[in-house]
Amino acid sequence: MDLQDKAFFLRTFGCQMNVNDSERIAGVLAAAGARPAERAEDADIVIVNTCAVREKSEEKLYAYLGRVRPRPGGRPVLIGVAGCVAQAETAELLARRPFVDFIVGPDNYLRLPEIIRRAGGPTVVADEWSIEWKETPEALIHRESPVTAFVSIMEGCNNFCSYCIVPFTRGREKFRPLRAIRAELAALSARGYLEILFLGQNVNSYRDPETGTPFAALLAEAGRMPGFRWIRFLTSHPKNFSADIVEAMTSCPVLCREVHLPLQSGSTSVLARMNRGYTREEYLAKAALLRQRIPGISLSTDIIVGYPGETETEFRDTLSALETLRFTNIFSFRYSPRPRTAAAKGADDVPFETKKRRLMEVQALQKEIQSALHKSLVGSIMTVLGVGPSRRDPAVFSGRNESHQVVNFRSPTDPAGRFVRVRITGAGPYSLRGDLVDD
Ligand code: SAM
Ligand code: SF4
Repeated sequence: MDLQDKAFFLRTFGCQMNVNDSERIAGVLAAAGARPAERAEDADIVIVNTCAVREKSEEKLYAYLGRVRPRPGGRPVLIGVAGCVAQAETAELLARRPFVDFIVGPDNYLRLPEIIRRAGGPTVVADEWSIEWKETPEALIHRESPVTAFVSIMEGCNNFCSYCIVPFTRGREKFRPLRAIRAELAALSARGYLEILFLGQNVNSYRDPETGTPFAALLAEAGRMPGFRWIRFLTSHPKNFSADIVEAMTSCPVLCREVHLPLQSGSTSVLARMNRGYTREEYLAKAALLRQRIPGISLSTDIIVGYPGETETEFRDTLSALETLRFTNIFSFRYSPRPRTAAAKGADDVPFETKKRRLMEVQALQKEIQSALHKSLVGSIMTVLGVGPSRRDPAVFSGRNESHQVVNFRSPTDPAGRFVRVRITGAGPYSLRGDLVDD
C-alpha cells in the first residue's frame, strides 16, 4: 500500500520507551505522506506498538488485535505489530493472529514506508537487529508534548535478570553517540522544551561509544544547557548507580531530585536468584547516600511479588524494605514467567492466590506510606508543571511536581505547559490537591 493520504492509527502499550518509539513511527509515516486517524475504525493502517514484559501486557495485544481485525465486508485495513512482541515472538504472533499484515521490530521503524508498501500478501516480517545505533532524524519524531521531550540515549540490556524478557526483545546494550544527543538537546532547547526525560533500559551504564564519556558527564552537560527547567532519567539500575551520578545531581539544580530505582525484592536471597547484582544492604546504602547528598530527593521503585521460591519470610523482607525506604511511588507486579528467561526454565511455584494476596499487602502498605507522605506536604507551596484539565472537574487542573507526584489544583486559566506555584491544601494516597498561588 502506498502511504500517500492514507490514515494510520497507532495504539501504544507499555513504557515511555514504547511511547517514544510511537512518536518515531508516527513521524516516519507522516513524512511518507500518511495522516493520523482519530479512531482505529477510520484508519487504513492500524499499528499496535506492544510490550512483552509481562504476560498480561502480551494478552492485551492479542485481545486488541482480535478487536481491530478486518471483518468480511468491512473496511479494508492493514494491521501491523511493532515493538517488543514483534521482535521476540514472531512465530507465536503468526500462529495466533495470522491476519497480521506486517511485523516490525524496534530497529526497523525507519523502513516502515517500504514495509507497508510490500504488505497485503503473506505477513511481512522485519525483525533485523544490529549493534549499531540507528539515528532517527529529529524531524521524523512526532512529539506528543510541546513541553516534555523524551530523549533516548541507549537501548537494550546486558543484565539478564532471571525473570526479564527485555534482553531478548531489545537486544544487547547499545549507546547513542553523545554528539547526536547534544544536537537533539540543542534543537529541543531552541524549540522551547522545558522538561527532558532521558530514556534507556539501564541509563546508568551509558557511555559515549566514540569518547567513552559516562552518564554522569552527560547529565552535568545537559544540566548546563539553556532553557531546560527539569531533567529526569529512566530507568536506573541500583548496581550501576555510581557516586559520580549522585555528585552530578547535586551540582545542578535542573536535575530533578527524583530517581526511579527498581528494587524488585527486599530479600537478598531472592535478589540473588533474580540475578540482580546487589543485596538488600547495598540497595539501602545507595538510597541512604542519595538521601544524604540530595536532601528532599524522592525515590520510586518496581516490586515483583511471588518470584519462584519466594517464602513468606522473604516476602516480609520486601514489606520491611518498603517501610524503611518510604518510596514516593511504586509499580508492583505479580511474577509471570516469560519465554526464554532463566526463571521460566524452573517452576512457577508460588500459588496464584498467594501472589495475589502478597500484591494486595504490598499495595495496601504503600497506600499508607503515600498517604502519610502526602499529608506531610499539606500547607507547603511547590512548583508544578501544568498538564491540562483534570479528568473529573474542568475547573480543576492536573500537573506534576518535581517528585513526579500528581497535583490537582484550581486555577483561573489552563496552566498546561507552564510552571506554576501551587499551595497544597489536601492529600489522598495517589495525589495532592491545592490552589494556584501566582502566575
Ligand atoms: N530496566 C528496568 C529495571 O532494571 O528494572 C525495568 C525493566 S521492565 C520494563 C519494568 C518492570 O517490569 C521491572 O522493573 C519489573 O519489576 C517488571 N517485570 C519485568 N519482568 C517481569 C516478570 N517476568 N514478571 C513480573 N514483573 C516483571
Ligand atoms: Fe530487565 Fe534486568 Fe535489564 Fe531491567 S536490568 S531491563 S529488569 S534484564
